[in-house]
Amino acid sequence: MSKKGIFGGTFDPIHNGHLHVAYESLYKLHLDKVIFMPSGNPPHKTNKKLTDSCIRYNFIKKIIQNEEKFDISDYEINKKGLSYTYETLEFFNKMEPKTKWYFITGADCLMDICLWKNANKILELCEFVVFNRPGYSKEEIIMHKNKVEEKYNKKITFLDIPILEISSTNIRKKVKKGENISYLVPEKLEDLLTKMNLYKL
Ligand code: ATP
Ligand code: MG
Repeated sequence: MSKKGIFGGTFDPIHNGHLHVAYESLYKLHLDKVIFMPSGNPPHKTNKKLTDSCIRYNFIKKIIQNEEKFDISDYEINKKGLSYTYETLEFFNKMEPKTKWYFITGADCLMDICLWKNANKILELCEFVVFNRPGYSKEEIIMHKNKVEEKYNKKITFLDIPILEISSTNIRKKVKKGENISYLVPEKLEDLLTKMNLYKL
């Protein structure tokens, strides 16, 4: 049975924290592929100005192009209206019913999964995998994971790996201030941001 992970996010822009998490899931969970899924119009970020989805998508595509086991899907960016995770998982399960699907997220997402539409279905349609993120202690995550597992009677996998203190918010702020972002993002992305003069305003 093939095992694939879906790694969703706004990726505004993709950074080394994302790539690190994608690699770790690939090897620790023995996945055949990790599919990056940039969101089009995420329900929880409706009041935030997002960079155009095609730009976010193309950045990821260029960054992962030489990684055989990384893939990208345009399913959510092409979807009309809001993109809900349970619908994405339904779609992928229907498309490849023999594949075991994993959904990869940072601890921040675990904290509010109860607010996601049809959380119960989400946990049914995939193995939900959580990574640590700056701002959350391991104990806090495990406690919350236990609560969610109990509430929905479903198992959640916690991958305890070293975390990189990087966020897209921080990258955007740094670019705006004219600060250096080397080693926080792939060199290729740094060049693309400069070329397109993104996040300067
Ligand atoms: P923003 O600051 O704009 O929210 P972000 O860095 O949190 O950006 P997202 O696109 O929101 O990136 O996140 C996509 C997924 O990647 C989420 O599951 C998030 O928890 C996870 N993630 C982002 N950065 C890291 C990191 N440094 N370490 C582990 N997981 C991360
Ligand atoms: Mg985020």
